[in-house]
Amino acid sequence: MNSALLINLAYIVASILFILGLKMLGRQASARRGNTISSLGMLIAVVVTLLDHHVVNYTWIIVGLVLGTAIGVACARLVKMTSMPEMVALLNGFGGLASVLVGWAEFGKMRALGWEAYLLTLGEAAPPHAFTASAIFFAVMIGGVTFTGSLYAFAKLAELLSGRPVLFRGQHLINGLIVAAMVVAGVIFAVSDASGGQAPLAFAVFLVLALVLGWTFVMPVGGGDMPVIISMLNSLSGLAACAAGFVIANNVLVVAGCLVGTSGFILTVIMCKAMNRTFTNVLFSGFGAAPASSGASADGAGAIKGELKPISAEDTFSVLEAARQVVFIPGYGMAVSQAQHIVRELAELLENNGAEVRFAIHPVAGRMPGHMNVLLAEANVPYEQLVEMDAINPLMPQMDVAIVIGANDVVNPAAASDRASPIYGMPIINAHEARTVICLKRGKGAGFSGLENQLFLLPNTRMLYGDAKATLQAVSAEFKSLAG
Ligand code: NAP
Repeated sequence: MNSALLINLAYIVASILFILGLKMLGRQASARRGNTISSLGMLIAVVVTLLDHHVVNYTWIIVGLVLGTAIGVACARLVKMTSMPEMVALLNGFGGLASVLVGWAEFGKMRALGWEAYLLTLGEAAPPHAFTASAIFFAVMIGGVTFTGSLYAFAKLAELLSGRPVLFRGQHLINGLIVAAMVVAGVIFAVSDASGGQAPLAFAVFLVLALVLGWTFVMPVGGGDMPVIISMLNSLSGLAACAAGFVIANNVLVVAGCLVGTSGFILTVIMCKAMNRTFTNVLFSGFGAAPASSGASADGAGAIKGELKPISAEDTFSVLEAARQVVFIPGYGMAVSQAQHIVRELAELLENNGAEVRFAIHPVAGRMPGHMNVLLAEANVPYEQLVEMDAINPLMPQMDVAIVIGANDVVNPAAASDRASPIYGMPIINAHEARTVICLKRGKGAGFSGLENQLFLLPNTRMLYGDAKATLQAVSAEFKSLAG
């Protein structure tokens, strides 16, 4: 069997492992195994690629491997869970940059060798010039947009830049003109002789325009919508890698790029649906540019009415001690306070006290997809206790107590009843239907959307103020003192 066939067989095995791994990532119980299986696929792909005769310099590969591993291990250990969206933004950006560099390097090689000699380096089934040139264009264009777009998203999320959307007159027209100019440069590049004068100029034009476009198209997106944009940039980094795979005729890169591209796209659609927003609305509406109206109300009648009624940890304990059906509704505040472990402890105490406990999971609670699932899994909360929004809502009126842990927008009744609310139509967890609602938050801070929340003012709601971890510890201590 010749080596090319062996390499491609190994790539098929790696691709199958990627697909199996992705499928397993869809369920919490199999997610860890899915991750391991995908990593094994990547290991096979990397080892086999290193055996390829096209590899000309192992020294730089080893230097890159050592440096990359050191940075990766340090990030995995040091980056906090709440900073994961920034981390993912950076990783997407570097993925895009890698595709730009592949396209650039191949174009340089093409110019240095001349097209005929370059073709020989691609092997027997070498594609026509226009095909490879178009693949270089797509790898560089999509990779360039992904690179600067991701850096901008990172800077917004890390609060190095203001999270507010930047809007100006003619913004969409300018972006449209940049895209048109890039396409023209791409066509000139694809039909020009690689060693002629026009190709390098066209290459430089679409590279610079792609870098500019990445910046300008993320500009009008508010910091709050960044997770959706990051998911889309993730999809773009996959498409850029796929194009790079066509440039260097590497099948596993094409497959892996397609998988990242489509899964990122599907995730983007899921997130938009969960917020009841269209993708164009996320991209172009400048959500969060104007201060959010505080007139949203649960009854749709205008301004928020009622008063906030605080409750102590001792009184919370008394309410919980009598409860038979309890639901925890975690949100971003649980991630901030890292309260997941103490939540699990309190859930066990409640169960020992005879209560049935559930955790209601909203698809966009927190700041990244699956945020709450990841935190609760880390605290070893049993999977069976996690209930999706659609399954928990019909049970809500039977709940004695709903404990809202640092969640705000995902339980805001205005989303269901106030047509004037910017979040109107976003599906929510109907916490307000529980007999008693206890909301854990530090003060009057608004949620991600900046809106007031009528839930906090309803007659059946009590506010347990303080950092969620500290207040839960206090409630838990009451239970333990009872047992002791
Ligand atoms: P949220 O609306 O952002 O509200 C979080 C609440 O947590 C705040 O009101 C804050 O109030 C409280 N909080 C913060 N730190 C706390 C602490 N240490 N202890 C206790 N409370 C604390 O969160 P959410 O209800 O989870 O909603 C998520 C939002 O993000 C949605 O609007 C969603 O559309 C958006 N989003 C999510 C994703 C995703 O993938 N998950 C993607 C894009 C957008 P205080 O300041 O008063 O404490």
